Amino acid sequence: MTPISLRAWLRHLHQTDRLAVIDREVALRFELAAVAKRLDGRRAALFRHVRGHRIPVAAGLTSQRSWLAEACGVDAAGLTDRISQAAARPRPCDPIPAAGAPVRRHTVTDGIDLAAMVPAPVHHELDAGRYITAGLCIVRDPDTRRHNVSIHRLQLVGPDRLTALILPRHTHLLQRRAEQRGRALECAIVIGADPVTILASQADVPFGVDELEVASALHDAPLQVTRAATVDVDVPAHAEIVVEGRILPGVREPEGPFGEFPRYYGPRSDKEVIEVTAVTWRERPIYHTIVPAAREHLLLGAVPREAGLLDRLRRRFPGVRAVHLTPGGTFRYHLAIALEKHVEGQARNVIMAALGDTFDLKHVVVVDADVDVFDAEEVEWAIATRFQGDRDLVVVSGAQASSLDPSSVDDRGTKLGFDCTVPLDAEPERYRRVAIPGLDDIRLEDYVAGQASVELD
Ligand code: MN
Repeated sequence: MTPISLRAWLRHLHQTDRLAVIDREVALRFELAAVAKRLDGRRAALFRHVRGHRIPVAAGLTSQRSWLAEACGVDAAGLTDRISQAAARPRPCDPIPAAGAPVRRHTVTDGIDLAAMVPAPVHHELDAGRYITAGLCIVRDPDTRRHNVSIHRLQLVGPDRLTALILPRHTHLLQRRAEQRGRALECAIVIGADPVTILASQADVPFGVDELEVASALHDAPLQVTRAATVDVDVPAHAEIVVEGRILPGVREPEGPFGEFPRYYGPRSDKEVIEVTAVTWRERPIYHTIVPAAREHLLLGAVPREAGLLDRLRRRFPGVRAVHLTPGGTFRYHLAIALEKHVEGQARNVIMAALGDTFDLKHVVVVDADVDVFDAEEVEWAIATRFQGDRDLVVVSGAQASSLDPSSVDDRGTKLGFDCTVPLDAEPERYRRVAIPGLDDIRLEDYVAGQASVELD
């Protein structure tokens, strides 16, 4: 069973000794993020006492690939395929009345003071202020009635006002369309969704696909949703907190700087403004924050991207076995691809297809299928021993690049492809890996059990 709520997942983490429950009071400014970051990749954190607030804060809910897989009910090796299947076959949600939806238990529409109501932390040294970082922003396409779900960094800039970084994807498109008609775009920002729904929000699906329906598919059960209180949008019924509002047309206000996924700051500039119309929450709500550039953030971004990339590459190159957006490459800029090469030159075509797939990709390494792309040492070994710079390097300069890569110039940069596949006509013995016969069959406890004494003089 996949968890249907944040608290169900926290309970599971607690039962399996992966939840650090922190009773000592912590400050929202830096301290909370610092403790969560120290636990990053090892244990999730539940801060029960946050200074100035009554609501506890959870962080680091899915800071390992295997935890994400576990939430989705599969093993780590099956995760990308599971996401691809869900993205390809969304299924309808289960709408329930507000009266039966936990997240509609309490509603405030007057005298909203976000800074007092939600324990949004200041995460990094130069951040412009307090940010909501784990809010699923749900909007609806007025023409098709389909939802779009995305996560944006949201800065608290007034009692009922947020500024948002909305990159040019689906929400951006709907916002621009509404703006051209002189209309606000209604939105619901869902804080404290279950981890499967959060992962589904990052699915690499075309415009028009409802990520809530992807969440239903990924849950393998219809996601219970309910209508928000003041906006025409459905929200997960078992979420903890929902901030409802309108993205105002023709209004831009300063946002940032903000510490981002590549471990650099995104700059301050004028961004879209959300005017808050209501806050709803369930009984004894739990707030969720994603510490930027922590494993939870990076994996939620990387794993669905890998699923999309693998799908598209495999359609053209059936020999592609696996892809990995690597930790050292910010989980976004470096891609390692395992390829069963059938024709000489194919690795280069795979490189070009991958580099052309998304502007974030900067360096692509293609290795043979015997190399584990999830093992950084193996990949580097392939670069060290199966690659010659003058022969195997693909260079494309002046391409569109990530604006958050500080080495890019005017959002353009150089793409490199490393063909680390062994030439098909190579003499096999030259590339024969060393092997110790019987290595994998050794049961070490048969040899090193007990402490034998030994004379080493
Ligand atoms: Mn979308």
